Amino acid sequence: MSYFQTSFEQQGAAVRVRFAPGVSREAALEVARLGCSRALVLSTPPQADGALMLAETLGASAAGVFTRAVMHTPVAVTEEAVAHALSVKADCIVAIGGGSTTGLGKAIAWRTDLPQIVIPTTYAGSEATGILGQTENGIKTTVTDPKIRPEVILYDAELVATLPVAMTVTSALNAMAHAVEALYAQNRNPISTMLATEGLRAFVSSLPAVVAEPAGLTARGETLYGAWLCGTVLGQVGMALHHKLCHTLGGSFDLPHAETHAVILPHATAFNARAVPELLKPVRDILGGTAPGAALHDFARRMGAPTSLRELGMAESDLDRAAELATTKPYWNPQPVDRQSIRRLLQAAWSGDKPDA
Ligand code: NAD
Repeated sequence: MSYFQTSFEQQGAAVRVRFAPGVSREAALEVARLGCSRALVLSTPPQADGALMLAETLGASAAGVFTRAVMHTPVAVTEEAVAHALSVKADCIVAIGGGSTTGLGKAIAWRTDLPQIVIPTTYAGSEATGILGQTENGIKTTVTDPKIRPEVILYDAELVATLPVAMTVTSALNAMAHAVEALYAQNRNPISTMLATEGLRAFVSSLPAVVAEPAGLTARGETLYGAWLCGTVLGQVGMALHHKLCHTLGGSFDLPHAETHAVILPHATAFNARAVPELLKPVRDILGGTAPGAALHDFARRMGAPTSLRELGMAESDLDRAAELATTKPYWNPQPVDRQSIRRLLQAAWSGDKPDA
C-alpha cells in the first residue's frame, strides 16, 4: 500500500527522543545537554518514590521534587507547582509518570517557558504533543502552543515493566485510539499515516507478549515505541468522534480516562468504518478479520480489557444526556454525527456488544 497523497502539509517538531532500558538513569546528562542545572522533578502521589529515586540519580542537578500531580491538570495544583518551581529557582522540569504528570509539566512550561524532560510510565502519549488539557471550576479546556511541547523524551522500558497488566492494556488501547483516528484525520499526511500504521502494528505485536510476561523488557520497549508513534500523530493531526466521546464521558460522567478509550474505540471505529472503509484498512490488515471495529473489539477482549461502559460504572439512564452532550457542538467526523446514531452507539458500548462493522 502507498501512503502518497497528492497534496499535504507536515510540520515536524524539534524533540530529542531516546529509547533504552535504564535510560532514565541518564537524566542528569539530559539536564546538562539542555544547558540546565536545577531540575524540578514531578510525579503523582503514588509515584513519589520513583520521583525521589530520580532526584537522587540527578544528584546536584535536582533542585526540588513536587509529587502532587493529579488527573486533568487542575489549575490550582499548577499554580502551587509554579510557585514551588520559582522558589527553588528551577531551570527545567523532569516529569516522571503518565499523562497526568506530563500534563502538570506542560502546564508549568506554558506559564514559565521552562524546558521539559519527560520520562513516560504509561502509553498515553502526551509527552509527544504540544497540547495541554487543564481544568478550572470543573471545566476542561485545551491549549496548543509550541512552548507546551517537551524538548526531551526518555523512554525507559524498565519503568513501564511495573505498570499493572490491566492498566497496561487500557493505556495501550488509549494510545491505539490516537492512531486509528489519525488514519482518517482530515489533515492526515503520508508521514502521519505511516506513524499511525506502525504504532498500531507495534502494539498488536507486543501487547500479547507483555500480558503473558509483564516484566519482559523487549516487548515493553516495543509498546513504548508504539506509544511514541501514536502520541506523535495525536500531536500532528486532528481527532474526531472517538476522542470527542471519551472527552464527554470523562469530563461529564467522571469515567476513567484509559478505560473509557478502551471501551469506546471499537464502536467509534465501526461507526466511521461505514464512511471510510479504505482509510481504516490498516486496522484490518494488522488485526485480521473483515471489519475494523469488530477486530478491535476481539483484540481488546483477548487482552482482557473492559468492553462495556456498564463495567466502568456508568448508569444506563445517563446515556441520553451523554448523547446530547456529545452532539451539541458540531465537529468534523468522517461519518456525519447525529444524536440518534450516537445514542445507539453509546447503548452498544454500554452493553459491550461486538460491533458489526
Ligand atoms: P495517569 O497519568 O493519571 O496515571 C494513572 C495512575 O497510574 C496514576 O495514579 C499514576 O501515578 C499511575 N501510574 C502511572 N504509571 C505507572 C507505572 N508505571 N506503574 C504504576 N503506576 C503507574 O494516566 P494516563 O492515562 O497516563 O494519563 C491520563 C491523563 O493524560 C488524562 O488527563 C488525559 O487527558 C491526559 N492526556 C493528555 C494528552 C495530551 O496530549 N495533552 C494525551 C494523552 C493523555
